[in-house]
Amino acid sequence: ITWTVDGGWHDAEVVPYGPITLDPAASVLHYAQEIFEGLKAYRHADGSIWSFRPEANALRLQRSAERLALPQLSTEDFIESLRQLIAVDRSWVPSAHETSLYLRPFMYASESFLGVRSAHKVDYRVIASPAGTYFTGGIRPLSIWLSTDYTRAGRGGLGAAKTGGNYAASLLPQEEAYRNGCAQVLFLDSDEGKYIEELGGMNVFLVRHDGTLITPELRGTILEGITRESVIRLAKDRGHAVEERPISVQEWRDGVASGEITEVFACGTAAVITPIGVLKSRDFEIGDASAEPGALTMSLREELTDIQYGRKPDRHGWLTQLG
Ligand code: PMP
Repeated sequence: ITWTVDGGWHDAEVVPYGPITLDPAASVLHYAQEIFEGLKAYRHADGSIWSFRPEANALRLQRSAERLALPQLSTEDFIESLRQLIAVDRSWVPSAHETSLYLRPFMYASESFLGVRSAHKVDYRVIASPAGTYFTGGIRPLSIWLSTDYTRAGRGGLGAAKTGGNYAASLLPQEEAYRNGCAQVLFLDSDEGKYIEELGGMNVFLVRHDGTLITPELRGTILEGITRESVIRLAKDRGHAVEERPISVQEWRDGVASGEITEVFACGTAAVITPIGVLKSRDFEIGDASAEPGALTMSLREELTDIQYGRKPDRHGWLTQLG
């Protein structure tokens, strides 16, 4: 579907997957005016197809659009775009255990001009791709790399928007993480380089021995994860205290050393909830890669996936039928 400054959104169509044409001067290629979302469609036992909180993805896309000076797409149009794509072929949504159809809506400036201003022509598209289980061969705790040279976003920047530039900023530190045997990079705040923010593609939680969950607060520099918000809700439902506040690396290290911190996990749409076993940086390494995943980590993961796959009642009204 295309947006123009004079005509608004028009020309919605579903087309076969394939290359798209962009003028060499299309402003997205030069100024990165683009945003995206990531969510999944799940097949339930009766064959029906559902998505988990797509309205939250629509709202986040709207917030990202505002920050990137892109046009607003309504929640109804967002969800309709997912429905129409899936309606082409319902068999795209796999049915094997813990598989899903990954949906990637994205919006980009397609006007051709060189000059820094927001584009007068924008395209919105959705691609879909079947996704297998994130973990093959059982759930293993991740090792993560603390980036001390690079940050991802600063106050007033793009950190809370789901836009390519944030991921561009994380590619080099992500390579550093791989070189050091880690699956993901952990970013620190750009003001003091002291407080943890998020992983390259996931939010982070620490669990205290008294069952309190602690996670970095939202201050415009990290992505407002929908899994993060859902985990907070489920934990509170179970009577856990949840603290959203600054967490220093020192607090993490001291907490693991003293036994105060008993579990650490990351969460996001792709991996749902995954235990973190090791935190590594140039100067130190803590944790144990062969440790068993924490009990709370695994039971929150099970509860969330049970809701997503329709195995448990959807008491929060989080599921929306797509087909
Ligand atoms: N942080 C970043 C940088 C991400 O890319 C993602 C994945 N979208 C998340 C956090 C988790 O967000 P969500 O739970 O909405 O997938």
